[in-house]
Amino acid sequence: MLSGFKTINLSVLVVSMCVTAFSSNIEAATILHAGRMLDMTTNKVQKEVSIYIEDNLIVGIKEGYIDPEKDEELIDLTEHTVLPGLMDMHTHLTMQNGPTIYLDRFRQEAADISFKSVVYAKRTLDAGFTTVRDLGDSHNVTVSLRNAINSGLIDGPRVFTAAKSIATTGGHADGGNGMSSNFRPEATPKNGVIDGPAEAAKAVRQRYKDGADLIKITATGGVLSVAKNGQNPQFNQEELDAIIATATDYDMHVAAHAHGAEGMKRALRAGVKTIEHGTYMDEDVINLLKKFDAYYVPTIIAGKWVAEKSKIDGFFPEVVRPKAAAIGPVIQETFGRANKAGVNIAFGTDSGVSEHGRNAEEFVYMVEAGMTPFDALKSATVNTAELLGVSETLGTLEKNKLADIIAVKGNPLDDITKLQRIEFIMKDGKVYKKPLKN
Ligand SMILES: [Zn+2]
Repeated sequence: MLSGFKTINLSVLVVSMCVTAFSSNIEAATILHAGRMLDMTTNKVQKEVSIYIEDNLIVGIKEGYIDPEKDEELIDLTEHTVLPGLMDMHTHLTMQNGPTIYLDRFRQEAADISFKSVVYAKRTLDAGFTTVRDLGDSHNVTVSLRNAINSGLIDGPRVFTAAKSIATTGGHADGGNGMSSNFRPEATPKNGVIDGPAEAAKAVRQRYKDGADLIKITATGGVLSVAKNGQNPQFNQEELDAIIATATDYDMHVAAHAHGAEGMKRALRAGVKTIEHGTYMDEDVINLLKKFDAYYVPTIIAGKWVAEKSKIDGFFPEVVRPKAAAIGPVIQETFGRANKAGVNIAFGTDSGVSEHGRNAEEFVYMVEAGMTPFDALKSATVNTAELLGVSETLGTLEKNKLADIIAVKGNPLDDITKLQRIEFIMKDGKVYKKPLKN
């Protein structure tokens, strides 16, 4: 025990010296005493470990509860299970659904949207989600939100944003849908609306210029847009090919919203990284997902939420209501099939459709549909880190990874609902929440 203690402190010292060269403001090392740890490299729960954090890195993990030295802060998580920070691959941090959102488009300034996004980002972090993709905003607010979080100005998850989604004229993310011609924004690549390969390339380059990290397209119709069809293909193959080729030039991956099978097939053949929702996925789509090593991001909670709200008179415009009632309930069954078939699953909720901060309810629906609790957790840690290309730094608890760490009381593998009650949150080595007795 004692020799282990000395060894780890030596490595802390070495890292401190390295860091000192770049920063004069070094905080004392922190030690977490974890009753259980799921480091996500295996499905084994390790008992009674000490996790060492220096600056924003995990610098060592040792068996047993090792006493801190005088300058080291001890955080007691002996009654908890510690695991990597969760990642949600489908959020909309600039909006939250409700019966007024269709009118809000005419009333809100960019600043109104920005203030809301600060609150929604904090709720997401408080739910234990330390990394998210934002798949569609307005006014490029999430680019500024990401920058404000990264600079330490406000608290929120690591954000990888697509900024404004790209649609075709009248397509699911065409902001002019359902508006009088007096109010419609121009259907231009700048506003995320394209027709033809040249405009497709231009829209991708515009997102790059705007500061986006990735590209989101609406490959088929969708539920909440003021338009009749919720599943028709909305891009032709040439447009999709142009989007992927251009995005690849700028080292951006492409996420494709899709409910209908034909739109999914075209998007996968073009080379999208993720299929969002995937409602009417058939065998061919499942085979293409596997062939191209793409990911399925299910968003079951969004389907449940819109199906439930479709029962309320006046909640949705009448053109939206039947789509919500038909598409919503199908996603959980689709997820069950895709999971059984061995498709790569990446956790995602479409939060902003449902309320921000409820993200972890998705785990319950995944387990209900036949996924093991461990695989559900893997879909929100290991798989998401792979999808984002950040496996070197995130997704597992290992030495030299970034200190994005959460904890719940008890064992989430025995009761997946425990993930809805996160008691400890650390992101990038900074503690945002800890159990009261500490
Ligand atoms: Zn979405």
